[in-house]
Parts: sequence; structure tokens; C-alpha cells
Amino acid sequence: MNGWLAIAGLGPGDDAMVTPEVSDALAEATDVIGYIPYVARVAPRDGLTLHPSDNRVELDRARHALELARAGHRVVVVSSGDPGVFAMAAAIFEAVEHGDPAWALLDIRVLPGITAMLAAAARAGAPLGHDFCAINLSDNLKPQAIIDRRVRLAAEADFAIAFYNPRSRARPDGLATALAILRDTCADRRPILFARAVSTAQEHLHVVALPDARAELADMRTVVIVGSSRTRMVPGTRFLYTPRSAA
Ligand code: SAH
Repeated sequence: MNGWLAIAGLGPGDDAMVTPEVSDALAEATDVIGYIPYVARVAPRDGLTLHPSDNRVELDRARHALELARAGHRVVVVSSGDPGVFAMAAAIFEAVEHGDPAWALLDIRVLPGITAMLAAAARAGAPLGHDFCAINLSDNLKPQAIIDRRVRLAAEADFAIAFYNPRSRARPDGLATALAILRDTCADRRPILFARAVSTAQEHLHVVALPDARAELADMRTVVIVGSSRTRMVPGTRFLYTPRSAA
């Protein structure tokens, strides 16, 4: 019984953006583990057990996956987008680092996926064409003061910034706080892309200038891309881009 564990990214939503490598792993799997809406994207079939679980139980889910792989199962842990971006791959390695030493000997692979900011950027044009960073606005696993500092320093360094988890019912103020910091740091009308449910039937893209940006334009299915000072629309088109060179 040669068990293995693949931590796979399902991409932003559209099946056409699932890589062949991830499809192959799913076709060989005996078990699929993940957050309920992500597991729902995997077609049921004979010989495959689906293990949907609620959000915020990442470590339990990771340990469960490692146990099954050790028992000889072929396990795929699914994340949306890329599994290494604010998702399950790091949770698995946290469990391996602190858990049963036998887990460190398992056959573990991370299979990349198209992360939300790249899918959103491609839809809009090329807003990440120059230097950029990504910040998770969730304060689940870090203090708000660190988030505030990173937003301010990223803006001072003139990165374009992708905000993941911009807003949720539990944290309605996260994005409003970040936008206030940006307005304090950047006295311009740089564009901000609100990209919701990219590559799904609910996809919606909206570009506004920083002074007009409101937190209500985002929800938990939105990734927000804040331009750098150089980001702009290509005149006469719908394309947003950041030139490759700094001023
Ligand atoms: N691993 C995922 C990110 C998980 S964090 C990835 O690589 O994309 C969840 C956040 O990702 C959401 O709050 C939202 O900000 C973003 N996101 C995920 N899918 C998205 C989509 N289809 N469109 C826009 N944003 C998305």
C-alpha cells in the first residue's frame, strides 16, 4: 500500500483553469479532503471518498489527510486557487513539522493552481506587470497591527498590492481600514480593481480610483488589486496595466 498526499489547487473556479496535473491526481485519488465548497467541485465517483469539512479547521484537516496517507490512501487535499497561497499547503507542513515523525517520510506533493490575483489580473489586463505583493487581510492568524504596518509599507514602497480575504461578515472593517491607510499614504487617484468570483458565472470586475473606493465593493469572494502610482488604463480600452519600468 503506497499512500501519498497531494495538496492541489483547483484554480479560481472555471474547470478549464484546473491543471492536467491536478486532474490526474484527482483521478487517482481514494480520498479528497477540504473546505465544503471546494470539495463540492470534485465529481463523485466509485472508489472515491469525499471528506468536506468546515472552514477554520485547517490543522485537523491536515492531520486527517496525513493519517489517511500513512494508512495507504491516495489523498488529495484541495484548495481554491493555489494551495500555497493562504491555503492548505502551509497547514499541512505545520502539521508535519509538529506531528508524528512518520508523516515526514510520506510522499507529499504540492500541485500548483492559478491563484485569484493572477486570474483577476489577467481578466483586467496586466496590473501586476511591475513589482507587487499580496496581503491577506484576515486577522484570524495575525494581529491587526501587523496588517496595518504591511499595508502602509507596501504602499510606501509603491508596490501594486493584491488583498486576499478583504472582507467578511466577521470582519467588516478590514478593508475599510486598509483603504484609509492607502489614502493617507498615497495622495493620488490610482486605480483599484475589485474582482469578484473570477472565472465563475458570478464574475464581476469593477475599477475605481482610490479616493472613490469603498469597502462595500468587496465581499469574501473578491480579490482587490490596488495599483501602484504608475498603474493606469490603456486609453480607449478596458485594460488596466502597470508598465514594466519604475519612473
Ligand atoms: N488559495 C486561494 C486563496 C484562498 S483565500 C488562491 O490562491 O486564490 C480566499 C480569498 O481568495 C477570497 O477571500 C478572495 O479574496 C480570493 N479568491 C478566491 N477565489 C476567488 C475568485 N474566483 N475570484 C476572486 N477572488 C477569489
